[in-house]
Amino acid sequence: MEVVVADNAGFCFGVKRAIKMATDTLDEAQGPVKSLGQLIHNPQVVNLFHRRGLEVVSDLTELAPDGTVVIRSHGVGPEVHEQATSRGLKVVDTTCPFVTKAQQYAAKLIAENYKVVMIGDAHHPEVIGVVAHTQGKAIVIDTVEEAEKLKFIPRMGVVFQTTHSIGHVQEVVGALLKRGKEVRVFNTLCGATTSMQKTAVELAPSVDAMVIIGGRQSANTAQLAEVCRKVNPRVHQVESSEEIDPSWFTGVRRVGVSAGASTPDEVIAEVVARLTDLEPGQARSA
Ligand code: SF4
Repeated sequence: MEVVVADNAGFCFGVKRAIKMATDTLDEAQGPVKSLGQLIHNPQVVNLFHRRGLEVVSDLTELAPDGTVVIRSHGVGPEVHEQATSRGLKVVDTTCPFVTKAQQYAAKLIAENYKVVMIGDAHHPEVIGVVAHTQGKAIVIDTVEEAEKLKFIPRMGVVFQTTHSIGHVQEVVGALLKRGKEVRVFNTLCGATTSMQKTAVELAPSVDAMVIIGGRQSANTAQLAEVCRKVNPRVHQVESSEEIDPSWFTGVRRVGVSAGASTPDEVIAEVVARLTDLEPGQARSA
């Protein structure tokens, strides 16, 4: 089967940076090194780091006072940094610069007496971290319906989860404009995700089906699949080549591939190899 890989598929610079910082830390640290939450939302990479000794913890109390904690690219609230300092931990902060910007804008808006509205998934670690930078005062919404239900806000400041699609935030901001008098919007979308979504959406209508590769917990992978589905309903999301079901490709001659920002090149290569091996137009269940 013919396979076309979208430009910008896979690791973004923020993830590459986090991986490099974690690798360097493991190479150089004297004591134990632990990651507060999974370093990135990709099981293969997390397993690889686990084998190298990077244990995932959910709480700083799981670290001994001489330990090193790696803060992942999604970032954390200021209270986590304070707690790490008070426990005497060494902190390696891999927070992506795009996320840091969103945290700074949210904190600035609160300091200037705006009510902050964040458009994002309230359960996502990045969003939890940004909200913490507003002393927990930000409201999180993710849909037009939720925006329409808000009470009127005279001074509203808006930030976005970095990995959201531009089309989605435009719709929600449109609804928010009716709920506020002064509405100040900071575009905190990540440039890497926006480019990745753009190239995948350009490719999707020219192929019979799309395969999106990435961790099931990865927000940017879910967004990538969603924006592609709007232009081609035949979109399948997988974490690895083993999940590919040949029956998905019955009648398919040309398939497009893209991958979330935390997907390693090797995983993309394995998926492409598996798809290339399928007979064009005749794929059947294994
Ligand atoms: S997807 Fe964007 S915000 Fe997230 S780590 Fe990559 S560059 Fe940073």
